[in-house]
Amino acid sequence: MAGAPPTPLPPGSVIGILGGGQLGRMLAIAAARLGLHAHVFDPSPGGPASEVAREATAAAYDDTAALEAFARAVDVATFEFENVPASVAETLARHTVVRPNARAFAVAQDRTEEKRFLEGIGLTCAPWAPIDSADDIAAALERTGAPAILKTRLMGYDGKGQVGVAAPDEAEAAWATIGAQPAVLEGRVAFTAELSVIVARGADGVTVAYDPGRNTHEDGILHRTVVPAGLPAAVLQDAVLAAGRIASALDYVGVLGVELFLAPGGKLLVNEIAPRVHNTGHWTIEATAVDQFEQHMRAVAGWPLGDGARHANAEMTNLIGEEAHRWAAIASEPGAALHLYGKAEARAGRKMGHVTRVSPLGP
Ligand code: AMP
Repeated sequence: MAGAPPTPLPPGSVIGILGGGQLGRMLAIAAARLGLHAHVFDPSPGGPASEVAREATAAAYDDTAALEAFARAVDVATFEFENVPASVAETLARHTVVRPNARAFAVAQDRTEEKRFLEGIGLTCAPWAPIDSADDIAAALERTGAPAILKTRLMGYDGKGQVGVAAPDEAEAAWATIGAQPAVLEGRVAFTAELSVIVARGADGVTVAYDPGRNTHEDGILHRTVVPAGLPAAVLQDAVLAAGRIASALDYVGVLGVELFLAPGGKLLVNEIAPRVHNTGHWTIEATAVDQFEQHMRAVAGWPLGDGARHANAEMTNLIGEEAHRWAAIASEPGAALHLYGKAEARAGRKMGHVTRVSPLGP
């Protein structure tokens, strides 16, 4: 459908959410708070989001008839994940408004496109080189320095599709490990901190950024986000400005996560962008008036964005696999807000929930 919907969509409008995991669940809860209705589309029935949405469609992403029926039933469609096949977005766009736009997905899905885009708008990434065969790796290592990380161009998240490369003689094995597919080689950054900025951009181009969080990962999966990040104000300001520049350059509508490394010497490097609400923004539920999920709903519905100022210090810890079994102890902890995603089976590496511990605003 050409053009934007009448903005803002009034309460009672239907927001279509592709993807039925925990992010879809928290988006659907935020929609309900605003009197909007969530309709979730996910291949598996009964996931975390469908439990709290007004409607759920369980169908495959290549089921064009189901996608078309879904698109006709919603007033705007959005996503909880970035690896959306282009054909899905195109099908949806024939029948409804899709936010964020296809360009954001094209850039975020492909590490080569992403790095070219970021460098093209004047931001800096870790040194990198495109890799199309094992033979490319030795020359690329000279550009990136060793050790480096080989990452698949497509479908990477939570550290998946990545392997370390310390020397040219590891090239063949590394190439095989990632499944012999197009990739990038990236210098391993001896970062002093990992941080992220969650930024929202409304249909009117107004941008609201949350305070940057400082992140720690375990086994490639986010473990904890802490705000304030405890980094120099100039670094935080640069991070926020970078996120705003990315959102504007993409003409983005919705919430976007930007992950950065603080390199030795104080330089900020952009690691990657996620065109969706982000695990490192979960703390906003307890520590801001308008959290990332509501902000995303507001943006895609054409509403004014809300106040994202932080009114508490916060520490968000993911509950991965069996860690969620500690729910009863966490539930009785002062200052702790427990979130469980309603997943039946606590498999290793699976995000089962999170806990945000809040304390009075401080330095
Ligand atoms: P990614 O999926 O690219 O976000 O990578 C997952 C995690 O691996 C990051 O959050 C970092 O902790 C680590 N990592 C990824 N790329 C690099 C790099 N170039 N240098 C150092 N650590 C990295």
